[in-house]
Amino acid sequence: MKDKILEITSKYGDDRGRLMDILIDIHDLKGYVDDANIEVLSEKLGISIAEVNETVSFYHFFTKTPKAEFNIYLNDSITSNLRGRTRVKEAFELACDATFEGKSEDGMFGLYNTSCIGMNDQDPAAIINDVVFTNLTPYRVKQLIKALKDGKSLQEATYESTGDGKNSDPDLKSMVFNNIRKGMMLLNKDYERFEVVGKILAENSPEDIIKTVEDSNLRGRGGAGFPTGLKWRFGRRVEGEHKIIICNADEGEPGTFKDRVMLTEFPDLVFEGMVIAAYATGADIGLLYLRFEYRYMYNYLSLVLEEMREKGYLGKNIAGIMDFNFDIRIQLGAGAYVCGEESALIESLEGKRGEPRDKPPFPVEKGYMNFPTIVNNVETLASTVKILKHGADWFNTFGTKDSLGTKLLSVSGDCRFPGIYEVEWGTSIREVIEMAGAEDVQAVQVGGPSGVLVSVKDVDHLGGTELMKWYKPSGMMVAQKTYDRKLSYSDLPTGGSIIIFNNKRDLLKEVVMNFMDFFIEESCGSCSTCRNLPYIMKQKLQKILDGHGVRQDIDDLLSWGKVIKVSRCGLGQTAANPILSSILNFRHLYEEYVQAMTDYDNTFDLEKSVEAANKFVGRKTVFHHS
Ligand code: SF4
Repeated sequence: MKDKILEITSKYGDDRGRLMDILIDIHDLKGYVDDANIEVLSEKLGISIAEVNETVSFYHFFTKTPKAEFNIYLNDSITSNLRGRTRVKEAFELACDATFEGKSEDGMFGLYNTSCIGMNDQDPAAIINDVVFTNLTPYRVKQLIKALKDGKSLQEATYESTGDGKNSDPDLKSMVFNNIRKGMMLLNKDYERFEVVGKILAENSPEDIIKTVEDSNLRGRGGAGFPTGLKWRFGRRVEGEHKIIICNADEGEPGTFKDRVMLTEFPDLVFEGMVIAAYATGADIGLLYLRFEYRYMYNYLSLVLEEMREKGYLGKNIAGIMDFNFDIRIQLGAGAYVCGEESALIESLEGKRGEPRDKPPFPVEKGYMNFPTIVNNVETLASTVKILKHGADWFNTFGTKDSLGTKLLSVSGDCRFPGIYEVEWGTSIREVIEMAGAEDVQAVQVGGPSGVLVSVKDVDHLGGTELMKWYKPSGMMVAQKTYDRKLSYSDLPTGGSIIIFNNKRDLLKEVVMNFMDFFIEESCGSCSTCRNLPYIMKQKLQKILDGHGVRQDIDDLLSWGKVIKVSRCGLGQTAANPILSSILNFRHLYEEYVQAMTDYDNTFDLEKSVEAANKFVGRKTVFHHS
């Protein structure tokens, strides 16, 4: 085995920075990485055993214990629960004769829960040894496991037909569906492959390109909304031996799957955007960070890059422009939501734990391997291609004054038409609900768990409250008729995740608790606030849901939600949002649970509460009831 491990490290030039690739290859080879392998890696890569262990232990899809022949990762996001995950889970357990977080006795099947895998429009879904299975039902599970037990391969056990669009491409052949419901400037066919890089780039200087992107007022589509042209201008100004363009394709926010669709249907548009960004900023190295859950696209995307190299759109003197040298490599992640944060993503690209860095310095000054680095997301980069093709003025005809252009929405949950909708900024919640064919709607989660749980009933308690002085989940929240609230940077900013809940759903027990579990699971653990408070807040919520809460508990939640904002990165800063947002817009649900008494808990059971302590110290507390 040692020889094989050394073969793998040498394939990556014994480069410590390629530790993620090396670990992925070792997992492909034997399913896990053990202490002996780690020792070899430490020696060969010149890093400590502790450093290798740090990386191995951080990522969801790495393990130090032997795995099964078929490892089934069943998505446990809220959309999966809404669509019958419990029955599918039971079916897996029955068919595999194993329980979740364990293996079958014969070592054939391993069952694991996993965070959102980006298939919310076709949940319940699971990844089995890199193959994605969607729209699972107990019947399908039974058939699938039977086929595997009969000796069929995973590919043979997949459904007979592939998904729509390019999912049927022989190089992709997946059963995933795109579910594109509405296209505008990005999701349409008015684009000739590589036409901007092939024709327009050579006619414009880097300065012209930056100016056009600035004039378009394009803002980053990941949620934060930083002006793209300005980011590119900073990138151009800063000096460096190398400059890096990173495309962030690590969409891990539950309810988000737009990158999946863009990369399936328009990978050329995304890569072309990276080439344009490189030309504008003077970058020579491109990295696409692809979440592990989308590994099924890896070969398909690699072939697009190969085609670009053959056509002269990657490599040296791209499109005949002297000294414009740039190439792109795809780096797989290994399952960690926090890596969507740009500095955590850079750490991961360097083969380390995906822990966010302190800022400053910002990546544009010191990013990947300390080189100036510009990070843009999939949608942002694709948008720049259309802007250069049609012009900034054209782009400015879409959207609203402060939010120009279009936005890709990943719509899922309780609706008839889940899928991808490209809408103009300024579209209202009402319009989204109508487009998606949702009825009897109770609430809409905008922006995933870190965003806002919006009530579709008119609310009048928002303006001027004490809460509003500091609670700004992602932008400004204003008191207005909720149904008419608009998706925009000034009202409801969003990275694109929209989850609809009907009136049958228990928002606190089903939704908020699920979101809190997500944040607890995904915290990298660096900050004490983010490491502890989501857990404590969840306990407090549980107390309320158990009927033991008092009004003070709601106030405690609000006050702890304020403290958590000091966390280092966006994950911690927004980890209390499921609770804060639901208190803000659905306070009546909390009020129904808490007792009218404000100063003491009249359901508190003293005898029961000391039971555990009695057991621990081995004596019984005696109570005198008066
Ligand atoms: Fe890690 Fe949470 Fe701190 Fe972010 S806020 S650095 S995820 S502990």
